[in-house]
Amino acid sequence: MSGALEITHSAPIPEIFYSEKEEKQFTECTICGKNLADGNELYLIEKAFERKSGLDKPQLVFELACCMDCRQEMHDSLSKESNEKIAAYFEANSRVEERDRELKKHDLIDTDVWLNNCIVKNKAMDEVNEYQIYALCWKDEMVFHQMPFMLCGETIDDIMNLLSNKSLDIINDLTADLIDLPPEFRELFKDKKVLFI
Ligand SMILES: [Zn+2]
Repeated sequence: MSGALEITHSAPIPEIFYSEKEEKQFTECTICGKNLADGNELYLIEKAFERKSGLDKPQLVFELACCMDCRQEMHDSLSKESNEKIAAYFEANSRVEERDRELKKHDLIDTDVWLNNCIVKNKAMDEVNEYQIYALCWKDEMVFHQMPFMLCGETIDDIMNLLSNKSLDIINDLTADLIDLPPEFRELFKDKKVLFI
């Protein structure tokens, strides 16, 4: 995705993409601390959820807002081969262009429509135990450009299996920094991964 994106379709950021920790919209990059609310750049929001027996709602495992510089840095830190494999996976499996046209046709009121099914496996949020949701934002608007979307746990596993050990190490380190759960949950969620799209 290019940084020089022309924003043609957007909507106020829906609450599902708010920071649950802060109980409000993200205002800064989780990684470098750059202000995003007043900034003039796009940023990504990623949130991971998992259902556990005994808990009625999916548990938030981690959440982050990420500026384009940090996203680029992460991208650059992964091996070229890993990045190429991720790109090829989405190209082969997710109908990105077609979905983008559909996104921009829609009246944009019902955000849930765009998150309900995994863009690769097509499984519904209700029928999977793990999922991650992604949005591209600008100030307090969510931008409809390839995102928002949801990936189910199976898709994320597929992608992790494509990565080199070095790339996996980088992702594991970053995820360990982000997971901020009560001690009783930490063990349950220790295999979760941040995925930079
Ligand atoms: Zn940053």
